[in-house]
Parts: sequence; structure tokens; C-alpha cells
Amino acid sequence: MDVKLRWGQISHPGNVRSRNEDALVAGPSIFAVADGMGGHDAGDVASAMTIETLSSLAATELDRSALLDAVRSANRAVTAEGARLANGMGTTLTGLAVTSENGRAVDVVVFNVGDSRTYALHHGRLERLTHDHSVVQELVDAGRLSADEAERHPDRNVITRSLGAEPSVEIDWVARKPRQGDRYLVCSDGLTKEVAENELAAVLAQVPEPQVAADLLLAAALQSGGRDNVTAIVVDVVAVTEPAVRTGLDDDTAPRETEPSPLDDDTLPRFARPRVGSVAATVGDKGDGDGGEGSEGE
Ligand code: MN
Repeated sequence: MDVKLRWGQISHPGNVRSRNEDALVAGPSIFAVADGMGGHDAGDVASAMTIETLSSLAATELDRSALLDAVRSANRAVTAEGARLANGMGTTLTGLAVTSENGRAVDVVVFNVGDSRTYALHHGRLERLTHDHSVVQELVDAGRLSADEAERHPDRNVITRSLGAEPSVEIDWVARKPRQGDRYLVCSDGLTKEVAENELAAVLAQVPEPQVAADLLLAAALQSGGRDNVTAIVVDVVAVTEPAVRTGLDDDTAPRETEPSPLDDDTLPRFARPRVGSVAATVGDKGDGDGGEGSEGE
């Protein structure tokens, strides 16, 4: 299938901090946010190194294992650089990639390490696709803290998983079908700690243009304090289509479609088969049969 995306992105230091240690890559096939941390201004090095590694893949055909390999490679690079500089730097990473095979889109793979988040707005409902790797999330999971209490907890900024902490890293991922009309939000905690999820959902559901939505999300975060760096990427799945032409044959065989040679009888059924009929079924698919999910280390 072919997947057409449209997106907008914004990153801002916020109202209090002088540096922006968040970094992002947006498009054409990878959208990711890294939120760096570490002493002696090292956080922006960690997030920039990680985003640089992912950016190098953004224009290439990418399958899930290549994506996860790139995240592991970024982790090794940040860990090595942190050891060299002895500054304990690290970074979160979350986002999505449209994976492909033979030039055709396959899945939307959402990945996460840390407490930056990726959401999907599907039929107007906002769904958090990532699970925070944080002390407060673990307390919530254990039933010892409510979601509201977690927002005010003194350890609310302590994360339990990051890139740069160890030479190997466990990466959470989930594969979803690309669905026309779905909207994704990839963001740092500088947005989600300032703006409640129902407010995120309202902006995402009401503002058609992705760049305007990203700008309004930033404005909301700044208005409620802007105490951290704020980064948001809004990605719309504008169209999901099956290609009208058959796949798997070279362009130079195209003339046979109008003038089939008697010697090439075996190619005829391909032309006779109605290919267009499958488009509506794919686009209108409302099944929740996603491609899978996992958690992979090395
Ligand atoms: Mn942050």
C-alpha cells in the first residue's frame, strides 16, 4: 500500500529553561522525539546523537528490525560518549516509523524508551500507545498511586529506562496498520506534564492542520507553566491506497498490458484480475488486527 502523510512539528525551550535538550526528527518516514538529560549540558548531546542516528534512516526503506537496530546503535553511541565524558548523559526516545518492503508501506511501528509519549487519535478518541518507563508509572501499575497522584509525585521526573544508561536497552514497540484519518502525536513530557490528556485530545480533534495543532499544543503548555522543554509532532495519515498498477514486474514490461504476446500467456491472469476492487476494503478496514507488539533488548 501507499501511505501519504502530512505533519507539523514544534520544539521550544519553555518559559524557564535556557537550553532546549529535546530534539526531533519529522519525516518523511520517521517521526521521533528525544528528551535529553545529564550534567554539564550533556542532555542535548545525547538527544541530538540519537536523533541524528534515526534521521540517517528517514529517507531509506526501513523494516522493523532495521529501526530497532538503529535505536540500539544510538544507545551504544550515547552510552560510549557518556562514559568518555563521565557526565552520565542519557535520553528518552519515542516515535513512529512507517516501515516498508519493496517500496510499499507495511506498518506504523511505534517505539518507546523512557517517558516521552506517542498517542493516536483514532475516530476522535485519543489513545496513549506508549507506556512510560518511570518510577510513578511503576507505582500506578502496582496500584499504589492514582494517575492524579502520579502527576504531583516528587519523583514524577525519575525515569527507569533511557538510552545511554547501559550498553543494551530494552525497546518497547507496537505495530499498527496505517489507517486513513488517523492522527499521531509524538511529544516530550514538557507537553504531557503541563497539559491534560483531555485537552490534548480536544486540540487534536478540532484543529485540522497538523502544524497549527502542534503550535496550539505548545501554546497550551507554555500557558500552564512551560517549566520544561516542549516538543510536539503531529502526523496525519492523509491517504492509504493500494497502487493501481501491479507490483513485482519491471516497468519495461508495461507495454504487454495493452498488447499481450501469445508467448506470454502466463501473465494474462494478472491483468484480468480486478486490482482496484481491493482499495475500498483496505481503506475502510476498521479491524483492530494490528501487526503485533513487543519489547526487544539485545
Ligand atoms: Mn522533558
